[in-house]
Amino acid sequence: MIQFLNCMREIAARDENVLNLIAKIWFAYGGILVFANEQLEFSAFRLGLELLPNDTLRPGPSIQIKLGSGREKEALAHELLHLDLGLSGYPRLVQNTFSDGEQRQLANSILNIADHRVMRPMFEELGLDPERFMSTQDGIAPQWAKHVEAFESCDPYASPCEYLERASTYLHSFGIADPVWGACKAGAWQVIQQ
Ligand SMILES: [Zn+2]
Repeated sequence: MIQFLNCMREIAARDENVLNLIAKIWFAYGGILVFANEQLEFSAFRLGLELLPNDTLRPGPSIQIKLGSGREKEALAHELLHLDLGLSGYPRLVQNTFSDGEQRQLANSILNIADHRVMRPMFEELGLDPERFMSTQDGIAPQWAKHVEAFESCDPYASPCEYLERASTYLHSFGIADPVWGACKAGAWQVIQQ
């Protein structure tokens, strides 16, 4: 596992704030998998929250970072902030409770977009250039434009409660009704009873 930690530290390139974020996420999750190479199409994260037979939740976090993009450090911070939202009590979808794989993928893509509005101030607080929050490629993917518009133009939803309400309503409008959500409270992952 240690090579994953070192890989992230290398990408952080001695940026103190990003190094601190790495340490926070790493220790809170007890390690995360990191894949970094030039062949990757884009950078991404996966929380991999699973419901276990004993009704507890277990996250299986991983990130992938596209190397050679010129914004590796920012991409790393971006993906780590997605994982940080999970630690801060923001609702996350439980992955293995979907009966339909396509719905799961759509829901994950929509929530990736929903996260961004909450993450952007955090990204700036790290002292990173807001222009480098996303790769330009991410910004213009036409199939996601309507979702981006929906989450950028609605009332703010800064708290975990507001996020849950906004995201649930939006997913519902795409036929994704009552998915199972989990949240991390005081270090323990629990199913959110709605
Ligand atoms: Zn993202």
